[in-house]
Amino acid sequence: MAGASVKVAVRVRPFNSREIGKESKCIIQMSGNTTTILNPKQPKENKSFNFDFSYWSHTTPEDLNYASQMQVYKDIGEEMLLHAFEGYNVCIFAYGQTGAGKSYTMMGRQEKDQEGIIPLMCEDLFTKINDSNNDNNMSYSVEVSYMEIYCERVRDLLNPKNKGNLRVREHPLLGPYVEDLSKLAVTSYNDIQDLMDSGNKARTVAATNMNETSSRSHAVFNIIFTQKKYDMETDNTSEKVSKISLVDLAGSERADSTGAKGTRLKEGANINKSLTTLGKVISALAEVKKKKVESFIPYRDSVLTWLLRENLGGNSRTAMVAALSPADINYDETLSTLRYADRAK
Ligand code: ADP
Repeated sequence: MAGASVKVAVRVRPFNSREIGKESKCIIQMSGNTTTILNPKQPKENKSFNFDFSYWSHTTPEDLNYASQMQVYKDIGEEMLLHAFEGYNVCIFAYGQTGAGKSYTMMGRQEKDQEGIIPLMCEDLFTKINDSNNDNNMSYSVEVSYMEIYCERVRDLLNPKNKGNLRVREHPLLGPYVEDLSKLAVTSYNDIQDLMDSGNKARTVAATNMNETSSRSHAVFNIIFTQKKYDMETDNTSEKVSKISLVDLAGSERADSTGAKGTRLKEGANINKSLTTLGKVISALAEVKKKKVESFIPYRDSVLTWLLRENLGGNSRTAMVAALSPADINYDETLSTLRYADRAK
């Protein structure tokens, strides 16, 4: 049985200095759940899409579609966290071209009110655990892992000494997993924050050493959340385990548009393999849900989708945020992001 269809949000960021320097025009309009993109070459031609949420960022907070980091967390992150408390596996991923706002949405900045979905969700998780601690029959444990997938290979961001690539294996009962990936137990939000900081640093260092940028890899932050309930009458303890996967995807720009050759081209093809496969998996799952028929889901075609199998299909809940640039100079990439998001519904 497929889970509920994917919750899809789009979020347009403010103009950056490059776009302002080029006197770019805004080609995105939002009204309610509808996002419209105007073709800068043919101003009369526009395309509209409907999503669960359309978020605007670059005007005053009075704008009806304006959404703060907290608003985005409340709409998407908190709902997914509540599903995890119910025992579902959940997944949130951010898609879009480099510089469109994926990391801002997932990780955010460390200033006040600028934190993204991952830190806000971790904080909320411990608040909710502490709130329910007066129930003596419940106990909770939280473990985290943080990895990067680059060219179909997996690196451990919580143990940078583990420089080699890790093997992806399949457990007969629990499904696909990464062998030797560090899983660290955490008991507070501060613990997680420290791990996230060192993981993000490891990501940047690895990228610099390899002469690449982190925009070409997928970062996957996992929270394994276990709830144990003791039943006094039967003297039994039951356990619910949920995996929360929070994914900052590689930039979706096509390799050919950057004039890539040789390794870079191959790298582009590999990154696209995960992104293309993710698109196929998500739209196949959406079809299954709509038509209520069984269908082949190509999880195995990329490392990313294989590792996310238990978080995308089956007993899981998924949300996607598509990050958009407002500028006419990014028209092609922005339209392709909107189409990708549209197929996920
Ligand atoms: P990506 O991860 O897609 O490459 P980033 O998240 O790094 O892009 O965003 C690029 C820049 O734009 C960053 O400086 C980020 O802080 C800023 N930014 C992105 N989205 C927003 C937003 N919604 N509001 C304010 N600033 C944003």
